[in-house]
Amino acid sequence: MSTVAPAKKPQINTALPGPLGQKIVEADAQFVTPSYPRPSFKLVAEQAEGVWVTDVDGNIFLDCNAGVAVCSTGHCHPEIVRAIQEQTAKLIHMCGTDYYYRHMPALARKLDEIVPIKSPTRTHFANSGTEAIETALKLAMHATGREKFIAFFNSFHGRTLGSLSLTSSRIAQRRGFRRQALDVTHVPYAYCLRCPFNLGKCGDGSCCLGSIDWIENRLFKTTLPPEECAGIVVECVQGEGGYVPAPKEFLQGLRRICDEHGIMLIVDEVQSGMGRTGKMFACEHYDLEPDIITIAKGIGSGLPIGACVARADLMDWKPGAHASTFGGNPVCIAAALKTIELLERELVQNSAEVGAYLQEGLRKLMQKHDCIGDVRGLGMMIGVEFVESKSSMKPAPELRDKIEYNCFERGLILLGAGANTIRWSPPLVLTRENVDVALEIFDDVITASNK
Ligand code: PLP
Repeated sequence: MSTVAPAKKPQINTALPGPLGQKIVEADAQFVTPSYPRPSFKLVAEQAEGVWVTDVDGNIFLDCNAGVAVCSTGHCHPEIVRAIQEQTAKLIHMCGTDYYYRHMPALARKLDEIVPIKSPTRTHFANSGTEAIETALKLAMHATGREKFIAFFNSFHGRTLGSLSLTSSRIAQRRGFRRQALDVTHVPYAYCLRCPFNLGKCGDGSCCLGSIDWIENRLFKTTLPPEECAGIVVECVQGEGGYVPAPKEFLQGLRRICDEHGIMLIVDEVQSGMGRTGKMFACEHYDLEPDIITIAKGIGSGLPIGACVARADLMDWKPGAHASTFGGNPVCIAAALKTIELLERELVQNSAEVGAYLQEGLRKLMQKHDCIGDVRGLGMMIGVEFVESKSSMKPAPELRDKIEYNCFERGLILLGAGANTIRWSPPLVLTRENVDVALEIFDDVITASNK
């Protein structure tokens, strides 16, 4: 750990990227795939601690994105670093698909305790969110003997071919890949601010009933026989789609449909799980019990690990049906167990408390700036939607991009989500003092960008 006292404010001393950063960006452009969806600003990270990231040119940034909602315990939390170092010195890899080690049942047992599915559960370990989703899809097909799925517009579930069949948050994710690998029907998500069914005003529950009605009375009676549907895949808070929390009636409606037709409810908590929403899982805000839940991102504090946890009676598939060489690697599990310990000890609570403080500050900025059309979210998963004006509510994607870029220039790392939303997904160690610093910059930047 660095002996230097943590910075209190961002410090930007060079053009961004600076001369060293520029060289790395150039090398990257030459040798690395151009398919990564990088934003217009260029952060070239060198080291990080807590909520502070230092780039290769010595500039210091306040990170309110956490490596896209991954560094839940903050960057390089000393207890996480120690857990990784100790495990690395003992056993790095053995391949849990063929051999045994204590870490796998230890984390699976812990997940059985904390996931919002009644015990007993079983867990399949993967290396990423998309792999956890692939597992969930295969499991639902295997358990039901069916092969069709329902997913939602603006959802993001990953980019491998199975999960890509669900994903629908940007056309660039689909373009050039021809037909969907899986038979998935997309349905409008219950996005109250912009009701897809024009049914009512935000928050009165009408649009969620619109989506439910669409499934039951349109899809199930025209193109998708419910007895052929293996699973409904949903995010409680749409992540990449714009940080949109679902209304409770919508999620409860999906649960009812699944119960009535023997369909698996697959809840994707890859982005919303592990304390991000101020509870361990977003499902807990909705009294929602999935049949299958997918987890990744924040569970490993930055090490690659994903998990698909399901009702034990569903996971009765036979040896060879699904496995992964690296999934559930001992080092990643050591990080995950320590992450959960820290979340339970203090960080889920901090996410709720400091997240509420952040949301309150953002709501004040919404009153001040006519271009903020909505502030929404749970815990430290907050979306700020930019519009041309409150009276028109017309989306303002260019303004959003400008604000994202200008925040970076001022040393505040934020990332867009959806067409016109800025997402706040800071490390869960964020303090009120950090919030004050971040909001001051955000406020200044909005004023300057909207001239
Ligand atoms: N599911 C959700 C809700 C996500 O937000 C993401 C990534 O952003 C994924 C799945 C895919 O995760 P990964 O990028 O680790 O494959």
